[in-house]
Amino acid sequence: MEKKRLKDIGEFELISRIRRWTRTSIPSIIRGIGDDSAVIELGGKVLLITTDILIEGIHFDPAWIDPFNLGRKSLYVNLSDIAAMGGQPRYFLISLGIPKSLSLLYISLFYRGLKAGAKKFNVYLIGGDTSLSEKITINICVFGEADKDSIIFRKGAKPEDDIYVSGTLGDSALGLEILKKEGQNGKPKGLFKRHLSPIPRVELGKEIAKNHLATSMIDISDGLLIDLQHILKESNVGAQVWEDSIPISSLYKRFVNNYSNDFYGFAKTGGEDYELLFTVPPRFRDKILLLSRFKNIPITRIGKITSKKEGFYLIKKDGGKYSPKTLGFEHFKSEALYRDLLK
Ligand code: ADP
Ligand code: MG
Repeated sequence: MEKKRLKDIGEFELISRIRRWTRTSIPSIIRGIGDDSAVIELGGKVLLITTDILIEGIHFDPAWIDPFNLGRKSLYVNLSDIAAMGGQPRYFLISLGIPKSLSLLYISLFYRGLKAGAKKFNVYLIGGDTSLSEKITINICVFGEADKDSIIFRKGAKPEDDIYVSGTLGDSALGLEILKKEGQNGKPKGLFKRHLSPIPRVELGKEIAKNHLATSMIDISDGLLIDLQHILKESNVGAQVWEDSIPISSLYKRFVNNYSNDFYGFAKTGGEDYELLFTVPPRFRDKILLLSRFKNIPITRIGKITSKKEGFYLIKKDGGKYSPKTLGFEHFKSEALYRDLLK
């Protein structure tokens, strides 16, 4: 038996071992472990399947998020993984672990939020499971669909491709930091909102896929650098990122200095923005510009893909190059986001 513990290897090394232990190959599984959603062939179309777990004290603190937002966010983080493949989410299952003492009102508000989110994105609840548990535990599994020839994997980025990101980054992590330091009466509410009710980029993902613009794509759930690294690993390439091109909001600009010495810190390694990160051949620059205007969503070029041997580095405004030490959030390795319950 190996003596190593999970905290020595971290979440992603664990997943890559699980991937080796359980490797299967049957033709109907186009993609199993290793992407934002699994991809299963069904006739001319593909079925996309993704699941995420949210655990009280690890992913959320009921003191800061109300049940309505919690219900909606639980669904949205899953929709984001379908968006990252360029698919259309359709149906979902939800399994809940609930403490006995929780009020019925809490659960009904949770379902109200869930339903509001489902309605907004035209997805339908088709079942789930319920059990007693010590902490609130939420697991959602979403099924989506896409055309086989338009889905976008983490794999596929090529040297010289441009790297783009939608929206602005770091707001969610900065919002959480302020919530933790100042409590709910802190400011600004706009940053809290980015943390408590992020919006998945489903329309944008579909549009990118339909027009075959991207060579690879992922949603930013654990942080820009770590999620970019997932693309680099799966695609076998390197990258350079221009630090001062990373898009940040005006609220971020105003408040970040009170909470960090690294101006781009939350934008580089903070998670839960649920923006899309994707790579595009330079010949499509005009098309990306048009798409951004047409959808009214900021899309920013933040760097380029290089060969694997050039590695992964950032370039600062003054031209200085550096390799990032911390990349983002990783279970078993990073400090817990909320309470450090489990050592
Ligand atoms: P995301 O952050 O986009 O949800 P993850 O990092 O959680 O992606 O997962 C990466 C890949 O590993 C996915 O294909 C996911 O299905 C798979 N995966 C994660 N945990 C497990 C597990 N315990 N067993 C098998 N596969 C897993
Ligand atoms: Mg993802």
